Amino acid sequence: MKLEKYIRDIQDFPKEGILFKDITPMLNNFEARQDFLHVLLQSLENKKIDKVVGIESRGFLFGMLLAQELKAGFVPVRKPNKLPFSTLSASYTLEYGTDTLEIHTDSINPGDKVLIHDDVLATGGTAKAVCELVEKLGGEIVQLNFLMELHFLKGRDKLKNKNIFAAITY
Ligand code: 5GP
Repeated sequence: MKLEKYIRDIQDFPKEGILFKDITPMLNNFEARQDFLHVLLQSLENKKIDKVVGIESRGFLFGMLLAQELKAGFVPVRKPNKLPFSTLSASYTLEYGTDTLEIHTDSINPGDKVLIHDDVLATGGTAKAVCELVEKLGGEIVQLNFLMELHFLKGRDKLKNKNIFAAITY
């Protein structure tokens, strides 16, 4: 099966000039989900993972599936003021302004082997902020994986020395 077949392009969403990659057709198809999950898991063969960190909100979907298959913990990284316990925050720059993400301070133990997951790697700002959070808590980042990488946005440049895997590259 070609994975790309289940990703839909939406022109001018959420703003004019942006071509948005919509994963909902894939989510709505059992076999397509299985295929994406299989490809992501293959890239982690023989790697021990203690915690899967999923980025709000589309990173929660496969983040949880991966955590279950890897018999690992699942850790949500969320937008500000959503997590109830004590948190650590990281801010990052967007095209206009900044954004902040938070993680529970007790969610990762020093030395934990961590997989960071999100649906899309675009400019890499989001993933970089999450790397900072994980590393501040003492986690060892084994891999960052994504359903898709928008290669032309050069997200990898912000994630030097990190092991990155994407099921599809555009
Ligand atoms: P970055 O920080 O790498 O520029 O943006 C990545 C974040 O924006 C991810 O959390 C991802 O969910 C979201 N994102 C950016 N572009 C797209 C897109 O075309 N499709 C989807 N589904 N998410 C996107």
